Amino acid sequence: MNLPEVVPAPRVITIADLVDQAERASAFMDELRSQMLAPTARKAPPVLSAVQVSDLCGIDKGQLSRRIAKGDLPSGRPVNAARREFTLAEARMWIRAYGVAFPRPTGAKAVTIAVGNFKGGVSKTTTAMTLAQGLSLRGYRVLVIDTDPQGSLTTLFGVLPDTEVNAGDTIQPLCAGDERSVRYAIRATYWDGVDLIPASPALFAAEFLLPARQMRETSFAFWDVLNQGLEDVRDEYDVVVIDTPPALSYVTINAFMAAEGLIVPMPPNSLDFASSAQFWSLFSDLAANLEHSGKVHKVFRFIHVLLSKVDMQDTAASVVRRWISATYADKVLPVEIPKTSVASVSSAQFGTVYDIAKYAGSAKTYQRAREAYDRVTRFVEDSIIECWKSPL
Ligand code: ADP
Ligand code: MG
Repeated sequence: MNLPEVVPAPRVITIADLVDQAERASAFMDELRSQMLAPTARKAPPVLSAVQVSDLCGIDKGQLSRRIAKGDLPSGRPVNAARREFTLAEARMWIRAYGVAFPRPTGAKAVTIAVGNFKGGVSKTTTAMTLAQGLSLRGYRVLVIDTDPQGSLTTLFGVLPDTEVNAGDTIQPLCAGDERSVRYAIRATYWDGVDLIPASPALFAAEFLLPARQMRETSFAFWDVLNQGLEDVRDEYDVVVIDTPPALSYVTINAFMAAEGLIVPMPPNSLDFASSAQFWSLFSDLAANLEHSGKVHKVFRFIHVLLSKVDMQDTAASVVRRWISATYADKVLPVEIPKTSVASVSSAQFGTVYDIAKYAGSAKTYQRAREAYDRVTRFVEDSIIECWKSPL
């Protein structure tokens, strides 16, 4: 057999090729989004059935019908003789009438929760989004802040970080010192009851802006910028949820320092377990240094380690689960998020389990995933209520 004589010319990839590649990828995202979100190119919230609305309110269908007859809450629209549908905004009016377990007391402020872990792909963004959606379905008003320049959370809201978000729409001007309150960056979203401060790649600049300000001004507190920026809006929301990048960045430190509660998603596999150990040591070193400087006295009201993407078939998972319980003890939430195609399929469509009105796959699979996220929401809700009941 003769070997081909022509040796392929050495191929290099130039920066111009990369620029080209970047343009193709970004054009493809635009195209994908307009196909998926057609006809409005905006994400639509789920429509809820009467059964779903009564479940969310904790009432039965008879009570729902009687209240509709009373006429003081939205009646939705009959689809046929047996079925009635409600928009998310209508459903939330019902939920607020019946469902809020413990409304924020007068004078109490929003409880701020950061979702963090220096490892990527552990479900931080999915957790932040489902928590915001879950809490809004419990009747609360939520502000979500995306502090990851990759803007995955922003994308889940149907907003494209690369093309639709400018530096001035993110917390970058706050980090630069051009703004004092985050209010300028807050926008309403497709999901009633959840507002968003988006992120875009331009937010990387914060990693230079914050240390530069610290160099210029010794009295500046680089870790306290987001915390201060939130003060102005804390009495307008019940909860603030902050998604963080997979690194101990200046912005991540700001997110943790602004938060009363921390949620650390952790899949039960050995590599994720190992890197989460680094998370605790890096962050605690830094926080201890700040505290020794005498400038910071930080306490958290709650820290929850959340077992995420748990593969029930994976036998190694149960071993790592034991390591996690032994290490993090009572910080581990007594609920696990299963690794599920519901989450991955819907994330391919920029959504979560809460975005799906009707799941095409098995009802049991959907129910299992949905119940897990609902339970996490309830535990976090309890922690929020605890903060309101016994303010520091
Ligand atoms: P992070 O923000 O920590 O990087 P993401 O929330 O973006 O993590 O999740 C990483 C990937 O894992 C995404 O593709 C997401 O859809 C997927 N994922 C998240 N939660 C689950 C789950 N419970 N089951 C299966 N896939 C999941
Ligand atoms: Mg993320």
